This record gives sequence, structure tokens and C-alpha cells, in this order.
Amino acid sequence: MTLRRKTRIIVGTMFLGLIVILYFLSEYFLIDGSSAGPAGVDRQDVAIAYLMLMIVGAGLLFGIVTILLLEKQVLSRLTRLSNSIRGIGTSGDITARVSLPGADELSVLAGTINGLLAAMEQSEGEMRELYNEERTLRQTLEDEINKRVEFTRALVHELKTPVTPIMASSELLLQKLENEPLHGLAQNINQGANNLNRRIDELLDLARGEIGTLRLNPEPMNPKQLLQRIVDEEKPVAMRNGQTLDAELPDSLPVIVADEERFQQVVLNLLNNAVKFTPPGGKITLRARVEGDNLTVEVQDTGIGISQSEQKVLFEPYRSLKSDRERLSGLGLGLSLSKKLVELHRGRIWVKSKKDKGSTFSFSIPLVADGQKAKVGVGHKS
Ligand code: ADP
Repeated sequence: MTLRRKTRIIVGTMFLGLIVILYFLSEYFLIDGSSAGPAGVDRQDVAIAYLMLMIVGAGLLFGIVTILLLEKQVLSRLTRLSNSIRGIGTSGDITARVSLPGADELSVLAGTINGLLAAMEQSEGEMRELYNEERTLRQTLEDEINKRVEFTRALVHELKTPVTPIMASSELLLQKLENEPLHGLAQNINQGANNLNRRIDELLDLARGEIGTLRLNPEPMNPKQLLQRIVDEEKPVAMRNGQTLDAELPDSLPVIVADEERFQQVVLNLLNNAVKFTPPGGKITLRARVEGDNLTVEVQDTGIGISQSEQKVLFEPYRSLKSDRERLSGLGLGLSLSKKLVELHRGRIWVKSKKDKGSTFSFSIPLVADGQKAKVGVGHKS
């Protein structure tokens, strides 16, 4: 029940009481004109009763007037205020305002509510502005990435055109100059062309990684065979640099489900870096082991090492470390791409290193991608 209704009931009841009092007064003292009152009633008692009825009647009259004034001044304004607020709440229109002219507490309350509405309107405007700014920024970023990817694609195409014939020719030269004095020269050209080709592919892969089009082709593969082959192929390169490169592999490793080409790319990148950043006389070791449901591969070197602060940014794209090794550093693509490839396998990559003591780069990937366990013979050792 609303306050207004309750008030009306109270006023009605008081009004009825007043009528009853007036009736009694007229019944006993006014209409029959006797001041003595009913027979047997003492004159003084009658006077007291008369006075009391008058006081109660005057009280009721005063009460009725007060409540009616209150109703007009407070309750009707309160109802207007509450209707106004309810209207705003229902429409959700926070630009609307509560209108309650005057200088009383209710008008002050209406002013406060309007202040709150204005603050809400302002913060909503700011939020909308922020949202629009964020959307524009996101769009700009996307445009930038797309432009960069387009540029990289064009660059890769331009670079591949001359590199492909150099690779093919140097391969041919290598065969032709077998056992000839110029064989070493041909080998250098071939190696340089292959490295350049690998760098170009990394550029394209990184661009694909940025727009999420870098995909894996997971198949059952034999990691032990692959790792041993990689080490055998890289050994001569390390030897030419005066380093030793060895594989320390367990007697058997299970068949895993991974993208063999990408797996090899990661291992080769870690090995090439180890060769690049280890002085002559240094030692490079490749290890692999099964840890739970994962295969962990690590490449340890006794090279120049990496400081703690440098390790933090190592896997970010285009972060080659400058300082004293500027001459040796490249574009900083390899590790960020390796990270991307390992993560696509749902694995992780990390480094432990001490400046001037050497580094150990490790990565760990699940033996089998989810849902593929049943399809392949996991557990088959080789
Ligand atoms: P890039 O593709 O240019 O070779 P990477 O992403 O492979 O770059 O490596 C980033 C940087 O990390 C390198 O420039 C080098 O400074 C440092 N780094 C990587 N591997 C090693 C390592 N085994 N020993 C010392 N520094 C390393």
C-alpha cells in the first residue's frame, strides 16, 4: 500500500471520528439547548465532558489539516519523484532528468539524482569514446600487420627468385667439383645459399604466424632417427668451426606425433645458434628424453651465454641481442619462430644460461597430440 493511500485512510478515519464527536456534542448540548445535560448528570461533569470532546475534536481537526498539508507538500512530491525515477529506470534513458522544482530536501534529493545521472552519462560517453578508440587502434594494428605480411610476401618472392637458381647451381657445382681444389669454395656458396633460403622461409613463417595461418602437419615420426641424422649432418659444420658436436640419446625413444619438418626446423635453429655463439674449442651436445607424456629435447653449448635481462626478451620477434655480440647477431627471427612452432605443438621452449659459461635451450612437446593416441602406435620404441 502506498504512503498516499495510507494517509487517506488515516485522514478518513479521523474525519469520521470528528463527525461522531460533533454528533455527540449536538445531541447533548447544542440541539436541545439545555446546559444541564442528561438527567442525573452533574453540571460540572457535563462541563468537563463537553471540554474534553471539544479538545479531542479540535485535535482531530488540527491532525486532519496537518496531514492534508503534509500530503500536498511531501507525499505528492515524493510520488512525483518516485514516478520520475521509475520512468528513467524503465526507459534506460540516462539523458533524462528528474524535475522537482523547489528548495526543500526533496528538491535537493532530485538535484543529487540528476547529478548522478549526469555523471553516468559522462562516464558512458567516455566509455563509448574509449571503445571507439580501441576499435580504431585494433583496426590500425590489423591493417599494419596485413601490410607487413603483404610486404614480407613480396620480399620473399623477390628474394627467392635469385636464391633458388644459386642453390641449384651450387649443388651442381658441388657434385662437379668433387675431389677438386675448388670444392671448398663451392661448399661455402652452397651453404650460404641454403642459409639464406632458410632465413627467407623463416620470414614468411613468422608473417604467417602473425596472422594465424601457420599450420602443422602432424604425423607419426621417429625422433631418435631424426635427431641422430641432424647431428650427423651438422657435425662437419661444427668441426669446421673447431667445435665438437655430439648426440646423447637414450637407447630408445617412442614414436611421437609431430610435424617432422617443423620439429627439425626448431632443432636446427637451436643447433645453428649454438654453433654460431660458441667459440672454437667449445662443446655442443644434443640430448633427448621422455618426461611423463612429453618429449624433451635440449641443446647445450659452452658458448658466450646470455645475461638474465637478455633472456627475458629472447623469444620475442626481431629481438637479436646487441651489446658485445652485435657482429654475430641476425634479425632475431629464429627463436621467436621456434617458440611459435613449439607452441603450435602445444609445447614450451625455455633457456638456462650464464654469461660467458654457455647456454642450454630446451623444448618439450607432447608425445601425441590429443585424440590421435588411438590412431598411431604410440609406445613403439626405436
Ligand atoms: P637469429 O634468427 O637472428 O639468429 P635468434 O632468434 O635465433 O636470432 O636468436 C636471437 C638472439 O639470441 C641471437 O641474436 C643471439 O644474440 C642470442 N642467442 C641465441 N642462441 C644463443 C646461444 N646458443 N648462445 C648465445 N646467444 C644466443
